[in-house]
Amino acid sequence: MKKPIDLKHLAARNEQLIISLLRKHGPMSQAQLRKMASLSSSTASYIVGRLRSKQLITETQGKSKNRGPKPVLVTINPTGCFAIGIEINPNTAIVGLFDFTGRSIEEITTPLANNHSPQNVCNIIEINLRGLLAKHDIAPDSLAGIGVALSGSITPDGTVELSSPLAWKSVPLKKLLQNRLPAPVTICTTRVRLLAEMEIEPDASYDNVLYLNIADGVGSHVIIDGKLLHGSANRTGEIGHIIVTPNGPTCGCGHKGCLEAIISAPAITKKMQKDIANGTSTTLTKTLTPEDTPQLAIEKLAQAAKENDPYALSIRTFIADHFAQAAAIAINFCDPEIIIIAGYLSKHFYPHLKAAIEKSFPTNVYDSETRKIKIKPAKATKNPLTTGAAITILQNTTKP
Ligand SMILES: [Zn+2]
Repeated sequence: MKKPIDLKHLAARNEQLIISLLRKHGPMSQAQLRKMASLSSSTASYIVGRLRSKQLITETQGKSKNRGPKPVLVTINPTGCFAIGIEINPNTAIVGLFDFTGRSIEEITTPLANNHSPQNVCNIIEINLRGLLAKHDIAPDSLAGIGVALSGSITPDGTVELSSPLAWKSVPLKKLLQNRLPAPVTICTTRVRLLAEMEIEPDASYDNVLYLNIADGVGSHVIIDGKLLHGSANRTGEIGHIIVTPNGPTCGCGHKGCLEAIISAPAITKKMQKDIANGTSTTLTKTLTPEDTPQLAIEKLAQAAKENDPYALSIRTFIADHFAQAAAIAINFCDPEIIIIAGYLSKHFYPHLKAAIEKSFPTNVYDSETRKIKIKPAKATKNPLTTGAAITILQNTTKP
């Protein structure tokens, strides 16, 4: 038997479609919207009317062409509603306030100073979130929701089963936060980075994407045939836990020799400190301190490499070679047309990472000569996790 059409659900879906087109392409006429959304003109005007009455869109007069009538342009109302995007990483908790267009209004970054216990992180998030709402005079009921992104495996009920960089196991994060925050909480994986990337790269309409990230952890996200893959337990793309050095350093996941335990920023920082303690000659001896965060340590490494310090150059090659080895496995597996390289470590060494992957094509990638794989750096480099988490909320929101 055919299911009856759920009109309310259908209208909500069309509203989300119209909003996402406006967010991606900017103001446009109702006729353009109708065409892009493949809606009949009566449906389009009904949906636009609904969105107008909820104050989620406004209509303004555009410029006329050749003295013709001025077209009416439909625009997202930035203050129609708001979202909070949060990133938790081992060094900082970042709380960002975003308007309905997905633009960041303000972000507060708080160092965790080695205390990334769930209790401390939740306290910081609550204080900063309430502070942001008060400062910008935003009533909690105009918040569409709160998206929290972190590296780890998340169950559908918002429990962090395992976060290797944070060393969290079975933390009921959604429950902990929902009890103290004024809007619905959604816990996201770092996969939302890809949303942030696609948001600012509207032309990136690739159906097969391999997104590789090196920062506090090492991970990947995969779009195959236009679909972002999640997997049976939300663990798709755990490239950081491919073992590249058997019996190598112990990873946060408990295994030995994972890529993440070798080339993530914390792993590289640890390696540099150990090498220096063992007497390696490098200019980093003067600049690197034990208090440096991995982010700062990687900046110092990049600077030393720029100045052609032989040790820094060897570390750069070490990162690129291990990275390319795992990337080739991922390429063979998911057949991408584009590889996007992201993360605060990669940002310093992008040309070398790209070159290392390309160098590995003839020996490590199946049938590489007939394939045309583009490699690009990520564009969403400023807090892509808070942006991605906020966009996750906004994409699913058009108010009841
Ligand atoms: Zn691991």
